[in-house]
Order: sequence, then structure tokens, then C-alpha cells
Amino acid sequence: MKNKIVRFLLLAFVALFASCGGNGDNNVSNTPETPTKPVDLGIPKDLPVFNADTAYALTEAQVKFGPRVPNSSAHVKCGDYIISQLKKQGAEVIVQATSVTAYTGESLKIRNIIGRIQPELTKRIMLCAHWDTRPFSDRDANKPKAQFDGAVDGAASIGILLEIARILKLKPANVGVDIVFFDAEDYGDPNQGNTYCLGSQYFSANQPFKDKMPQFGILLDMVAAPGATFYREGYSMQYAPQIVGRVWAIGKELGFGPYFREENSGAITDDHFFLNSILGLPTIDIIHHDPSSGTGFGEYWHTQQDNMQQVDKNTMTAVGQTLLGVIYSEK
Ligand SMILES: [Zn+2]
Repeated sequence: MKNKIVRFLLLAFVALFASCGGNGDNNVSNTPETPTKPVDLGIPKDLPVFNADTAYALTEAQVKFGPRVPNSSAHVKCGDYIISQLKKQGAEVIVQATSVTAYTGESLKIRNIIGRIQPELTKRIMLCAHWDTRPFSDRDANKPKAQFDGAVDGAASIGILLEIARILKLKPANVGVDIVFFDAEDYGDPNQGNTYCLGSQYFSANQPFKDKMPQFGILLDMVAAPGATFYREGYSMQYAPQIVGRVWAIGKELGFGPYFREENSGAITDDHFFLNSILGLPTIDIIHHDPSSGTGFGEYWHTQQDNMQQVDKNTMTAVGQTLLGVIYSEK
């Protein structure tokens, strides 16, 4: 993910923000606001509570295997662990095992891991994230070739979704939920966007859902750093603006407005781009965007700082609880 063109777009965006100057209140209108009737988002009163301690422990367990770089033993062990966790929560598990060729020419043995919850239901939604770790911390000035933990960029998104699987077993929702963990998202060349997201590209060309397709998808990427901010990302707004609107509104309603920002960011090449453009599944990306950093992402991004110290339970709760709001408000 995150090729040069995208970085250019983000930098252009940052420049645009910077050029707006310091006064963000310029466009305050003098017209009194028309009172609007609050929209009923249909969030049930007895919405289950997301447990960030469990999500954190599930994240830590992955990190303890070591960096989940394709073709490593840590990668194999962690994949097996994720499969066992999904089975424990009663999901029907489908494993797409295949080989893909990385930009280096290396053949990578990968697995997309799919957990179908209430597989008998026709009405479905999909939640997804990548579970692999980038093979090197190339944004780290001191250690650009070393491996890193990938606690936020990878493990924490999986931890959040496995906690949601646990809750869905305790209290079944009105919709079926497909939880999809993509492999080899982060084994790419920053100068070539399509060398990233190898697992989701394979998945999109070989969809395993048959006739029970989810109605929409929500991708998580880097959603656990302290004070993370999620902007309305470009491809999400292009392909699925209604889903962005609904997820952001539910996040706000549940009290997580400071995380879900009512501002647009540039387009980011991430797994959702291929789900939208190849599979035709409207999918949004909840991803930490920091317009004040040089890269547009958090300062920890692809550095040695992406470790468990960077995993914040408040942010995990903001994301996990919002997703529960989305799932349980489906009729
Ligand atoms: Zn990454």
C-alpha cells in the first residue's frame, strides 16, 4: 500500500491544508442553523460492549510470534493461531492458500483467512484487515532494513476483529458477518502501488462467497495508535460514500467523534481499492491519517516504533464499538 503517487497526493493535500493558513473558522456563516431532526441510526439500546482488554491480548499474542512476514515460521504459526481463534468462535473457516510473486521476484506462500459467521444468512456484511507484517521498517532512518513488530500495522486490526467474532458468538446479529484477513498486503515496492495488497488482489479475482455476497465491506488498517484520526478516504468516498456516512455517523453517535473526522483525505491504495475495482464490493477504509506528518500516516508507520507501546485501548474501543454499532443496527 501507499505508493509514491499516493504519497504525492497526500503531500499535495498537506500543502493545501498548509496554504489555508491558521484560521479554520473563515467559513463560519452568520445564518442561524436550521434545527434538523436527529436521524435515528437504529443502534439498539442493548448494544454489546467491546472489550479492549481482550482485543489487546489477541494483538499481543500475534506480536509474540514475531514479525508475520510471508515465508517465515512466525507467519505460519500466526496464521494457524488466527484460524484456531475463528473456529473457537464458531465461524465457518475458509482458507485461500496460494503462492504469489512479490516485486522482488520471490514466491510468497500466502493464506487469506475467511471466517463466516452465521453462514446460513443471505444478508451479510464484511469486515476485513491484513494480517501480514511488512518485511522491513523502511521508513525508519536508523533501521530501514530491519524487521519490526507491526503491532498497529497489522496485528491490532486482527485483534479488534477477533474480539468482534467473540461477541457475535455470544449475541448473534441479524446479519451474517464475513471476517476476512488478507495476507501479503504490505510486501510491496513504494514506487509501484499494485505490488501491495497481493492477498486481496487474489481474493478479489477468486471470491469465495459464491452467491452469498456481502452487501458492503469495511477495511481496518492502522486503527490502534493513541489519538488516531480517521478521515473520509478518497477511494472510500468514490466507491461507497453512503457507507462512510453511516459508519462515521454511528461513531459520532457513540461518542467517538474526535476519532472520526468530518474531513476528506487523499486516496490510498489499500486492500479496499481492489475489492472495489476488481470484485465490485463497495468497501471503505478506516485508516489513520495524520495530515501533519510528512507521510500522511502516523509517525510510527513502517518504523521500529510500531510496537505494543503504540497500541492504545481507547482507540481500539472507538473502532471496535463503532463496528458493533454498525453490525447490530442492521435489521
Ligand atoms: Zn503498512
